[in-house]
Amino acid sequence: MRPRSSLALLLLGAWLLSCVGVSRSPDAPPNVILIFVDTLRADHLGLFGYPRDTSPALDRFAAESLVFRNTTAQAPWTTPSIASALTSRYPWELGYANSRPPAVLSDEFLTLPEIFAANGYRTGAVISHLLIGTKLGFGQGFERFDVANAQGHQHISSPSIVERAQRFLNSFHDVPFFLFLHFFDPHYAYMLHEPYDYDPDYAGRLDAGVDQPELLKRIRSLSDEDMQYIRALYDSEIRFTDEHLGLLLEDLRKRGLYENSLIIVAADHGEEFREREALHIGHSSTLYQELIHIPMLIKLPGSTEGRVVDAPVGLIDLAPSIVETLALQVPDGHRFDGRALPLREPDQFSQLPEAPIFSETRVRGKYLQSVTLGRWKLIVDHRAKRKSLYDLESDPGERNDLAASSPEIVESYTELLAEWTEDVWQKREGLQLRPAELDRDEIEKLRALGYMN
Ligand SMILES: [Zn+2]
Repeated sequence: MRPRSSLALLLLGAWLLSCVGVSRSPDAPPNVILIFVDTLRADHLGLFGYPRDTSPALDRFAAESLVFRNTTAQAPWTTPSIASALTSRYPWELGYANSRPPAVLSDEFLTLPEIFAANGYRTGAVISHLLIGTKLGFGQGFERFDVANAQGHQHISSPSIVERAQRFLNSFHDVPFFLFLHFFDPHYAYMLHEPYDYDPDYAGRLDAGVDQPELLKRIRSLSDEDMQYIRALYDSEIRFTDEHLGLLLEDLRKRGLYENSLIIVAADHGEEFREREALHIGHSSTLYQELIHIPMLIKLPGSTEGRVVDAPVGLIDLAPSIVETLALQVPDGHRFDGRALPLREPDQFSQLPEAPIFSETRVRGKYLQSVTLGRWKLIVDHRAKRKSLYDLESDPGERNDLAASSPEIVESYTELLAEWTEDVWQKREGLQLRPAELDRDEIEKLRALGYMN
Protein backbone atom coordinates (compact mmCIF):
# COMPACT_ATOMS: atom_id res chain seq x y z
CA MET A 1 0.00 0.00 0.00
CA ARG A 2 1.36 3.43 -0.87
CA PRO A 3 2.22 5.61 2.15
CA ARG A 4 -0.35 8.20 1.22
CA SER A 5 -3.26 5.74 1.25
CA SER A 6 -2.17 4.18 4.56
CA LEU A 7 -2.09 7.70 6.04
CA ALA A 8 -5.57 8.27 4.65
CA LEU A 9 -6.74 5.03 6.26
CA LEU A 10 -5.23 6.05 9.58
CA LEU A 11 -6.96 9.42 9.42
CA LEU A 12 -10.24 7.74 8.48
CA GLY A 13 -9.82 5.38 11.45
CA ALA A 14 -9.13 8.28 13.82
CA TRP A 15 -12.14 10.14 12.49
CA LEU A 16 -14.41 7.12 12.89
CA LEU A 17 -13.18 6.61 16.44
CA SER A 18 -13.86 10.25 17.29
CA CYS A 19 -17.40 9.86 15.87
CA VAL A 20 -18.45 6.73 17.67
CA GLY A 21 -16.40 7.02 20.83
CA VAL A 22 -13.84 4.45 21.79
CA SER A 23 -14.87 1.31 23.54
CA ARG A 24 -12.26 0.90 26.23
CA SER A 25 -11.75 -2.16 28.29
CA PRO A 26 -13.81 -2.11 31.49
CA ASP A 27 -10.51 -2.35 33.40
CA ALA A 28 -9.16 0.88 31.89
CA PRO A 29 -8.92 3.70 34.42
CA PRO A 30 -12.08 5.80 34.27
CA ASN A 31 -12.07 9.24 32.76
CA VAL A 32 -12.83 12.08 35.15
CA ILE A 33 -14.81 15.22 34.43
CA LEU A 34 -14.94 17.79 37.23
CA ILE A 35 -17.46 20.55 36.61
CA PHE A 36 -17.71 23.67 38.73
CA VAL A 37 -20.62 26.03 38.26
CA ASP A 38 -19.71 29.40 39.68
CA THR A 39 -22.11 31.07 42.12
CA LEU A 40 -24.68 28.27 42.26
CA ARG A 41 -26.81 28.22 45.40
CA ALA A 42 -27.93 24.75 46.37
CA ASP A 43 -31.43 25.91 47.30
CA HIS A 44 -32.11 27.33 43.81
CA LEU A 45 -32.03 23.86 42.23
CA GLY A 46 -35.00 21.57 41.67
CA LEU A 47 -33.18 18.66 43.28
CA PHE A 48 -32.96 20.74 46.46
CA GLY A 49 -36.67 21.49 46.38
CA TYR A 50 -36.70 24.83 44.56
CA PRO A 51 -40.17 25.42 43.09
CA ARG A 52 -38.97 26.84 39.74
CA ASP A 53 -37.78 24.45 37.03
CA THR A 54 -34.23 25.81 37.07
CA SER A 55 -32.38 22.50 36.76
CA PRO A 56 -34.05 19.72 34.74
CA ALA A 57 -30.71 18.41 33.39
CA LEU A 58 -29.02 18.44 36.79
CA ASP A 59 -32.10 16.82 38.34
CA ARG A 60 -31.80 13.97 35.82
CA PHE A 61 -28.07 13.71 36.48
CA ALA A 62 -28.78 13.67 40.23
CA ALA A 63 -31.02 10.63 39.74
CA GLU A 64 -27.90 8.72 38.60
CA SER A 65 -25.44 10.19 41.12
CA LEU A 66 -24.57 10.51 44.75
CA VAL A 67 -26.30 13.71 45.79
CA PHE A 68 -24.60 15.38 48.73
CA ARG A 69 -27.30 17.48 50.33
CA ASN A 70 -25.08 19.07 52.96
CA THR A 71 -21.88 20.27 51.31
CA THR A 72 -20.06 23.32 52.63
CA ALA A 73 -17.64 25.43 50.60
CA GLN A 74 -14.51 26.50 52.47
CA ALA A 75 -14.73 30.08 51.22
CA PRO A 76 -17.54 32.24 49.82
CA TRP A 77 -15.70 33.35 46.67
CA THR A 78 -14.08 31.74 43.68
CA THR A 79 -10.30 31.64 44.11
CA PRO A 80 -9.92 30.23 47.64
CA SER A 81 -12.92 27.94 47.29
CA ILE A 82 -11.72 26.24 44.11
CA ALA A 83 -8.10 26.17 45.32
CA SER A 84 -9.30 24.44 48.47
CA ALA A 85 -11.21 21.85 46.43
CA LEU A 86 -8.23 21.14 44.14
CA THR A 87 -5.68 20.79 46.97
CA SER A 88 -7.74 19.73 50.00
CA ARG A 89 -6.10 22.48 52.04
CA TYR A 90 -7.85 25.32 53.84
CA PRO A 91 -7.76 28.79 52.22
CA TRP A 92 -5.62 30.42 54.92
CA GLU A 93 -3.09 27.58 54.71
CA LEU A 94 -2.89 28.26 50.95
CA GLY A 95 -2.18 31.90 51.73
CA TYR A 96 -5.48 33.55 50.82
CA ALA A 97 -5.38 36.60 53.00
CA ASN A 98 -6.85 40.02 52.68
CA SER A 99 -5.38 40.93 49.30
CA ARG A 100 -7.15 41.09 46.00
CA PRO A 101 -6.15 40.02 43.50
CA PRO A 102 -5.01 37.05 45.56
CA ALA A 103 -1.44 35.78 45.64
CA VAL A 104 -0.41 33.01 43.28
CA LEU A 105 -1.27 29.47 44.43
CA SER A 106 2.16 28.20 45.46
CA ASP A 107 3.87 25.37 43.55
CA GLU A 108 4.49 23.65 46.88
CA PHE A 109 0.86 22.49 46.99
CA LEU A 110 -0.03 19.32 45.13
CA THR A 111 -3.18 19.88 43.06
CA LEU A 112 -5.66 17.34 41.76
CA PRO A 113 -4.60 17.88 38.11
CA GLU A 114 -0.97 17.30 39.13
CA ILE A 115 -2.01 14.04 40.77
CA PHE A 116 -3.86 12.96 37.63
CA ALA A 117 -0.92 13.92 35.39
CA ALA A 118 1.47 11.92 37.58
CA ASN A 119 -0.89 8.92 37.29
CA GLY A 120 -0.75 8.92 33.50
CA TYR A 121 -3.86 10.97 32.75
CA ARG A 122 -4.13 13.59 30.03
CA THR A 123 -5.30 16.81 31.70
CA GLY A 124 -7.25 19.75 30.36
CA ALA A 125 -9.15 22.74 31.70
CA VAL A 126 -11.72 25.12 30.25
CA ILE A 127 -12.27 28.04 32.58
CA SER A 128 -14.17 31.30 32.43
CA HIS A 129 -12.61 33.66 34.97
CA LEU A 130 -9.20 35.25 35.50
CA LEU A 131 -9.48 34.51 39.21
CA ILE A 132 -8.66 30.85 38.56
CA GLY A 133 -6.31 31.50 35.64
CA THR A 134 -2.72 30.46 35.06
CA LYS A 135 -1.40 33.75 36.46
CA LEU A 136 -2.93 32.81 39.81
CA GLY A 137 -1.27 29.40 39.75
CA PHE A 138 -4.22 27.29 38.61
CA GLY A 139 -2.43 25.95 35.52
CA GLN A 140 -0.43 23.51 37.69
CA GLY A 141 -0.73 19.98 36.34
CA PHE A 142 -2.76 20.95 33.27
CA GLU A 143 -1.40 19.99 29.90
CA ARG A 144 -3.88 22.31 28.23
CA PHE A 145 -5.66 25.27 29.80
CA ASP A 146 -8.30 27.18 27.87
CA VAL A 147 -9.04 30.72 29.07
CA ALA A 148 -10.84 32.05 26.00
CA ASN A 149 -13.98 32.66 28.07
CA ALA A 150 -12.37 34.69 30.87
CA GLN A 151 -14.00 37.84 29.55
CA GLY A 152 -15.89 39.55 32.32
CA HIS A 153 -19.26 39.45 33.94
CA GLN A 154 -21.53 40.15 30.99
CA HIS A 155 -19.94 37.59 28.72
CA ILE A 156 -22.25 34.61 28.17
CA SER A 157 -19.99 31.59 28.21
CA SER A 158 -21.85 28.31 28.73
CA PRO A 159 -22.24 27.41 25.00
CA SER A 160 -18.57 28.13 24.40
CA ILE A 161 -17.45 26.16 27.48
CA VAL A 162 -19.32 23.13 26.11
CA GLU A 163 -17.91 23.63 22.61
CA ARG A 164 -14.36 23.92 23.95
CA ALA A 165 -14.86 20.91 26.20
CA GLN A 166 -15.88 18.98 23.09
CA ARG A 167 -12.60 19.94 21.42
CA PHE A 168 -10.78 18.31 24.33
CA LEU A 169 -12.99 15.25 24.14
CA ASN A 170 -12.26 14.93 20.42
CA SER A 171 -8.57 14.67 21.15
CA PHE A 172 -8.55 12.59 24.34
CA HIS A 173 -9.21 9.04 23.28
CA ASP A 174 -6.22 6.84 23.85
CA VAL A 175 -5.46 7.35 27.55
CA PRO A 176 -7.63 8.32 30.51
CA PHE A 177 -8.24 12.03 30.89
CA PHE A 178 -9.08 14.52 33.60
CA LEU A 179 -11.14 17.42 32.31
CA PHE A 180 -11.88 20.43 34.54
CA LEU A 181 -14.72 22.68 33.40
CA HIS A 182 -15.73 25.96 34.98
CA PHE A 183 -19.11 27.47 34.04
CA PHE A 184 -19.68 31.09 34.98
CA ASP A 185 -23.07 32.33 33.80
CA PRO A 186 -24.96 32.37 37.15
CA HIS A 187 -22.35 34.84 38.47
CA TYR A 188 -23.45 38.49 38.30
CA ALA A 189 -24.20 40.40 36.08
CA TYR A 190 -27.55 38.62 35.92
CA MET A 191 -28.60 38.24 32.30
CA LEU A 192 -31.99 37.24 30.93
CA HIS A 193 -31.91 34.14 28.71
CA GLU A 194 -35.01 33.61 26.58
CA PRO A 195 -37.14 31.58 26.95
CA TYR A 196 -36.34 31.31 30.65
CA ASP A 197 -38.09 34.46 31.83
CA TYR A 198 -39.39 33.83 35.36
CA ASP A 199 -40.75 37.35 35.91
CA PRO A 200 -42.24 38.43 32.57
CA ASP A 201 -44.58 40.98 34.17
CA TYR A 202 -41.87 42.96 35.94
CA ALA A 203 -42.38 46.64 35.22
CA GLY A 204 -39.73 48.18 37.47
CA ARG A 205 -36.66 50.25 36.70
CA LEU A 206 -34.01 47.53 36.54
CA ASP A 207 -32.68 46.16 33.29
CA ALA A 208 -31.35 42.65 32.83
CA GLY A 209 -27.55 42.65 32.83
CA VAL A 210 -27.17 45.45 35.39
CA ASP A 211 -23.90 44.75 37.17
CA GLN A 212 -23.48 44.22 40.88
CA PRO A 213 -21.64 47.48 41.75
CA GLU A 214 -24.59 49.36 40.27
CA LEU A 215 -27.06 47.22 42.25
CA LEU A 216 -25.09 47.91 45.43
CA LYS A 217 -25.27 51.66 44.81
CA ARG A 218 -29.06 51.41 44.64
CA ILE A 219 -29.49 48.66 47.18
CA ARG A 220 -31.48 50.63 49.76
CA SER A 221 -33.98 51.81 47.20
CA LEU A 222 -34.62 48.45 45.56
CA SER A 223 -38.24 47.39 46.08
CA ASP A 224 -39.43 43.86 46.81
CA GLU A 225 -40.47 43.65 43.14
CA ASP A 226 -36.94 44.63 42.10
CA MET A 227 -35.46 41.92 44.34
CA GLN A 228 -37.88 39.35 42.90
CA TYR A 229 -36.77 40.38 39.43
CA ILE A 230 -33.08 40.01 40.35
CA ARG A 231 -33.74 36.51 41.67
CA ALA A 232 -35.69 35.69 38.50
CA LEU A 233 -32.72 36.79 36.38
CA TYR A 234 -30.35 34.70 38.51
CA ASP A 235 -32.67 31.73 37.99
CA SER A 236 -32.68 32.38 34.26
CA GLU A 237 -28.87 32.14 34.32
CA ILE A 238 -29.06 28.86 36.24
CA ARG A 239 -31.61 27.42 33.81
CA PHE A 240 -29.51 28.49 30.82
CA THR A 241 -26.38 26.92 32.34
CA ASP A 242 -28.35 23.77 33.13
CA GLU A 243 -29.44 23.54 29.50
CA HIS A 244 -25.81 23.54 28.37
CA LEU A 245 -24.74 21.14 31.10
CA GLY A 246 -27.48 18.87 29.78
CA LEU A 247 -26.07 19.13 26.24
CA LEU A 248 -22.61 18.25 27.52
CA LEU A 249 -23.88 15.22 29.46
CA GLU A 250 -25.86 14.09 26.42
CA ASP A 251 -22.76 14.43 24.27
CA LEU A 252 -20.80 12.30 26.76
CA ARG A 253 -23.48 9.62 26.42
CA LYS A 254 -23.27 9.71 22.63
CA ARG A 255 -19.51 9.32 22.80
CA GLY A 256 -19.87 6.33 25.10
CA LEU A 257 -18.05 8.22 27.83
CA TYR A 258 -20.87 8.81 30.31
CA GLU A 259 -21.39 5.43 31.90
CA ASN A 260 -17.79 4.68 32.79
CA SER A 261 -16.62 8.16 33.78
CA LEU A 262 -16.40 9.73 37.19
CA ILE A 263 -18.41 12.94 36.75
CA ILE A 264 -18.63 15.56 39.47
CA VAL A 265 -20.77 18.68 39.45
CA ALA A 266 -20.26 21.20 42.25
CA ALA A 267 -20.33 24.93 42.91
CA ASP A 268 -17.65 27.16 44.42
CA HIS A 269 -20.13 29.21 46.48
CA GLY A 270 -23.66 30.60 46.40
CA GLU A 271 -25.09 34.11 46.20
CA GLU A 272 -26.90 36.44 48.56
CA PHE A 273 -29.87 38.60 47.68
CA ARG A 274 -30.22 41.20 50.44
CA GLU A 275 -31.37 38.58 52.96
CA ARG A 276 -29.55 40.27 55.84
CA GLU A 277 -29.40 43.53 57.73
CA ALA A 278 -25.96 44.14 56.25
CA LEU A 279 -27.51 44.81 52.87
CA HIS A 280 -25.71 42.99 50.12
CA ILE A 281 -26.16 41.33 46.76
CA GLY A 282 -23.33 39.10 45.59
CA HIS A 283 -20.86 37.04 47.60
CA SER A 284 -17.50 36.92 49.39
CA SER A 285 -17.93 38.79 52.66
CA THR A 286 -20.28 36.67 54.82
CA LEU A 287 -20.52 32.97 55.69
CA TYR A 288 -24.26 32.40 55.78
CA GLN A 289 -25.71 29.30 54.16
CA GLU A 290 -26.78 31.18 51.03
CA LEU A 291 -23.04 31.54 50.33
CA ILE A 292 -21.44 28.34 51.59
CA HIS A 293 -24.15 25.68 51.18
CA ILE A 294 -23.42 24.32 47.73
CA PRO A 295 -24.58 21.38 45.62
CA MET A 296 -22.23 18.45 45.01
CA LEU A 297 -23.19 15.55 42.73
CA ILE A 298 -20.87 12.63 42.03
CA LYS A 299 -21.63 9.99 39.38
CA LEU A 300 -19.40 6.99 39.90
CA PRO A 301 -17.82 5.13 37.00
CA GLY A 302 -19.85 2.10 35.99
CA SER A 303 -22.84 3.20 38.03
CA THR A 304 -26.01 5.10 37.33
CA GLU A 305 -27.56 4.49 40.73
CA GLY A 306 -28.93 7.57 42.41
CA ARG A 307 -28.43 8.03 46.12
CA VAL A 308 -28.95 10.91 48.52
CA VAL A 309 -26.26 11.49 51.13
CA ASP A 310 -27.26 13.64 54.10
CA ALA A 311 -23.93 13.43 55.95
CA PRO A 312 -22.32 16.88 56.18
CA VAL A 313 -19.21 17.12 53.99
CA GLY A 314 -16.93 19.87 52.68
CA LEU A 315 -15.54 20.67 49.24
CA ILE A 316 -12.23 20.03 50.96
CA ASP A 317 -13.16 16.32 51.05
CA LEU A 318 -13.40 16.12 47.26
CA ALA A 319 -9.75 15.56 46.28
CA PRO A 320 -8.97 12.78 48.81
CA SER A 321 -12.28 11.09 47.93
CA ILE A 322 -11.39 11.02 44.23
CA VAL A 323 -7.86 9.84 44.96
CA GLU A 324 -9.09 6.99 47.13
CA THR A 325 -11.95 5.96 44.85
CA LEU A 326 -9.67 5.72 41.80
CA ALA A 327 -6.69 4.37 43.80
CA LEU A 328 -4.47 7.14 42.44
CA GLN A 329 -0.89 7.26 43.68
CA VAL A 330 0.19 10.26 45.74
CA PRO A 331 3.69 10.83 47.15
CA ASP A 332 4.45 9.06 50.43
CA GLY A 333 3.48 11.16 53.40
CA HIS A 334 1.22 13.44 51.38
CA ARG A 335 -1.44 15.02 53.56
CA PHE A 336 -4.96 16.15 52.68
CA ASP A 337 -6.87 18.30 55.16
CA GLY A 338 -10.17 16.77 54.05
CA ARG A 339 -11.48 13.22 54.48
CA ALA A 340 -11.69 10.46 51.89
CA LEU A 341 -15.44 9.82 51.67
CA PRO A 342 -16.66 6.24 51.09
CA LEU A 343 -18.08 6.96 47.62
CA ARG A 344 -18.17 3.27 46.66
CA GLU A 345 -19.91 2.26 49.89
CA PRO A 346 -22.58 4.87 50.45
CA ASP A 347 -24.13 2.73 53.20
CA GLN A 348 -21.17 3.77 55.30
CA PHE A 349 -22.14 7.42 55.22
CA SER A 350 -24.62 6.89 58.03
CA GLN A 351 -21.72 5.73 60.23
CA LEU A 352 -19.29 8.43 59.10
CA PRO A 353 -17.92 10.04 62.26
CA GLU A 354 -19.05 13.65 62.57
CA ALA A 355 -16.24 16.08 61.84
CA PRO A 356 -16.27 19.87 62.13
CA ILE A 357 -16.35 21.68 58.79
CA PHE A 358 -14.65 25.06 58.63
CA SER A 359 -14.99 28.02 56.29
CA GLU A 360 -13.49 31.47 56.27
CA THR A 361 -13.18 34.72 54.37
CA ARG A 362 -10.71 37.59 54.59
CA VAL A 363 -11.67 40.15 51.99
CA ARG A 364 -12.50 43.86 52.03
CA GLY A 365 -11.06 44.17 55.54
CA LYS A 366 -13.33 41.43 56.88
CA TYR A 367 -12.24 38.35 58.73
CA LEU A 368 -14.92 35.75 59.39
CA GLN A 369 -14.71 32.10 60.29
CA SER A 370 -17.41 29.49 60.69
CA VAL A 371 -17.62 25.96 61.99
CA THR A 372 -20.47 23.53 61.44
CA LEU A 373 -20.75 20.37 63.49
CA GLY A 374 -23.94 18.38 63.80
CA ARG A 375 -26.91 20.70 63.80
CA TRP A 376 -25.03 23.75 65.07
CA LYS A 377 -23.13 26.41 63.17
CA LEU A 378 -21.07 29.16 64.78
CA ILE A 379 -20.00 32.22 62.79
CA VAL A 380 -17.31 34.45 64.29
CA ASP A 381 -16.86 37.93 62.86
CA HIS A 382 -13.43 38.83 64.23
CA ARG A 383 -13.49 42.48 63.16
CA ALA A 384 -16.96 43.19 64.55
CA LYS A 385 -16.16 40.94 67.55
CA ARG A 386 -19.47 39.16 67.13
CA LYS A 387 -20.43 35.51 67.42
CA SER A 388 -23.66 34.07 66.02
CA LEU A 389 -24.96 30.57 66.62
CA TYR A 390 -27.60 28.86 64.48
CA ASP A 391 -29.46 25.58 64.68
CA LEU A 392 -29.40 24.56 61.03
CA GLU A 393 -31.92 21.77 61.59
CA SER A 394 -34.73 23.95 62.89
CA ASP A 395 -33.53 27.22 61.31
CA PRO A 396 -31.75 26.54 57.99
CA GLY A 397 -32.26 30.17 56.96
CA GLU A 398 -30.20 31.34 59.99
CA ARG A 399 -32.81 33.77 61.30
CA ASN A 400 -32.53 33.09 65.03
CA ASP A 401 -29.16 33.81 66.57
CA LEU A 402 -28.97 31.58 69.64
CA ALA A 403 -25.53 32.71 70.84
CA ALA A 404 -26.88 34.53 73.89
CA SER A 405 -29.05 31.63 75.04
CA SER A 406 -26.53 28.82 74.39
CA PRO A 407 -23.21 30.01 75.85
CA GLU A 408 -21.85 26.46 76.37
CA ILE A 409 -22.21 25.59 72.68
CA VAL A 410 -20.68 28.93 71.70
CA GLU A 411 -17.76 28.23 74.02
CA SER A 412 -17.06 24.72 72.77
CA TYR A 413 -17.39 25.72 69.08
CA THR A 414 -15.14 28.74 69.68
CA GLU A 415 -12.61 26.28 71.09
CA LEU A 416 -12.90 24.13 67.93
CA LEU A 417 -12.25 27.18 65.79
CA ALA A 418 -9.26 28.22 67.91
CA GLU A 419 -7.66 24.75 67.67
CA TRP A 420 -8.23 24.63 63.94
CA THR A 421 -6.83 28.15 63.45
CA GLU A 422 -3.71 27.23 65.43
CA ASP A 423 -3.29 24.04 63.39
CA VAL A 424 -3.63 25.84 60.06
CA TRP A 425 -1.27 28.58 61.26
CA GLN A 426 1.40 26.00 62.01
CA LYS A 427 0.94 24.27 58.67
CA ARG A 428 1.23 27.61 56.94
CA GLU A 429 4.52 28.55 58.58
CA GLY A 430 7.25 29.36 56.06
CA LEU A 431 4.83 29.62 53.12
CA GLN A 432 6.32 31.87 50.45
CA LEU A 433 3.74 33.85 48.51
CA ARG A 434 4.19 35.61 45.22
CA PRO A 435 1.89 38.40 44.04
CA ALA A 436 0.09 37.72 40.77
CA GLU A 437 1.77 39.41 37.81
CA LEU A 438 -1.27 40.74 36.02
CA ASP A 439 -1.03 43.11 33.10
CA ARG A 440 -2.72 46.50 33.11
CA ASP A 441 -5.70 45.26 31.13
CA GLU A 442 -6.32 42.40 33.57
CA ILE A 443 -6.00 44.70 36.59
CA GLU A 444 -8.48 47.11 35.03
CA LYS A 445 -10.87 44.23 34.34
CA LEU A 446 -10.70 43.05 37.93
CA ARG A 447 -11.08 46.58 39.28
CA ALA A 448 -14.18 47.15 37.17
CA LEU A 449 -15.60 43.96 38.61
CA GLY A 450 -14.92 45.00 42.21
CA TYR A 451 -12.13 42.45 42.74
CA MET A 452 -9.40 44.86 43.82
CA ASN A 453 -9.17 46.12 47.39
ZN1 LIG B 1 -17.07 32.06 42.16
